[in-house]
Amino acid sequence: MKESIYNHIIDNGENFILYNALSDEAAVITKELYNIYESRHRNPDDLKTAYPDFYDYLVKAGIIVAEDIDEINEALRLNDSKGLAQKKAFHLTVNPTLKCNMNCWYCYEDKRPTRMSEETLSRVCELIEDRMRPDKGFDWLILSFFGGEPLLAFHKEVKMILEFAKRICDREKKHLSVLFTTNGFLLDDGILDSLGPYLPKFQITLDGNEYVHNSVKRTKGHLGTYSRIVANIKNAISRGCYVTVRLNYTYKSLPYFVDVISDFENLSSADNALLSFNFQRIWQDCSDVPACEVTEAVHKMEHHFLDAGLTIIPSSSNSLQKCYADCEDSITINFDGRVFKCTARDFTESNSEGMLEEKGNISNHVISASKGIRKMTRQMSFITGFMTLLSSRNRIKEPEITRMWNC
Ligand code: SF4
Repeated sequence: MKESIYNHIIDNGENFILYNALSDEAAVITKELYNIYESRHRNPDDLKTAYPDFYDYLVKAGIIVAEDIDEINEALRLNDSKGLAQKKAFHLTVNPTLKCNMNCWYCYEDKRPTRMSEETLSRVCELIEDRMRPDKGFDWLILSFFGGEPLLAFHKEVKMILEFAKRICDREKKHLSVLFTTNGFLLDDGILDSLGPYLPKFQITLDGNEYVHNSVKRTKGHLGTYSRIVANIKNAISRGCYVTVRLNYTYKSLPYFVDVISDFENLSSADNALLSFNFQRIWQDCSDVPACEVTEAVHKMEHHFLDAGLTIIPSSSNSLQKCYADCEDSITINFDGRVFKCTARDFTESNSEGMLEEKGNISNHVISASKGIRKMTRQMSFITGFMTLLSSRNRIKEPEITRMWNC
């Protein structure tokens, strides 16, 4: 027997939490039991003889595993089985520009005034046409637009790619789903009219109540954007589009989100069914408050939303989840034709996986679904702590919230 490579041990001061990310099993053990585990876990047979009940639990929880078990393969198998439902989908994310009309303090993108060249645009179309060919085996195209602010490029690049994708999907009898990650400021009637045939889904971010949000997301002329974005969200759901409102919080800004609730109360039940909220911690949050306290505060805030009849997508889960970037059939094309897997890192050459070439070919295409799996599963139970650690090293500082805002 051997120790699992997916074990995590958290010292919470009074006792220890033993967690296995592969089995998703956790146990709280006393300091005394932890010392026994620490002194004997490298020799499980010794542990078995001295503490048989404890040993049986560790085996059952996957904390100690048989010598011949290949845990990395087991994690990959689990990961693949969770992705079966999407196996026939090709997920293409397009960054038509990295430019943005906001300048959030935590943004990791350089927001240069970038646009897609005609050549890259036509290569994106060729890529779509190639992947939707019958012999490729996909029956669904998931087309996401990211950035920068993708709606800045709506009337040319986005529209052209959308119209082309629809033509191809109609011709080949494939499903087409359209998603936008946007700050929502430009989502006006004109754009929603054009998007009518696609019934897109949106992820739109709010950074707090009106005051806090406006201190983060302002126009170039320093005007607040909250009320227009909230109105645009309501307009989108009234037209049948799903909207997930991503609530980007820091420990300091979290209490202010309670005011957001009243801005979405009294929706019709049809509109309410299309709206959900998801709290996400800004990873540069410098607060040194213990992660468990932050989590508790988030759960309390989530309950306020639930009590008001709003839908919450839970902020965290310790279960093994398959990230879109870990799916082999998911790629991101940047405005300059560079190919990426993950949209949560900056789009630099060193993070790039290759280049989009003619006919939808991708050069240096070394993407493998297994590339990050071991790291992912080992880290996932530590995400919050890891982010806190990162933020303490990060030089970007959250601006002060100087006063309460009453809507
Ligand atoms: S809206 Fe999004 S892309 Fe624009 S500055 Fe803020 S985080 Fe960056």
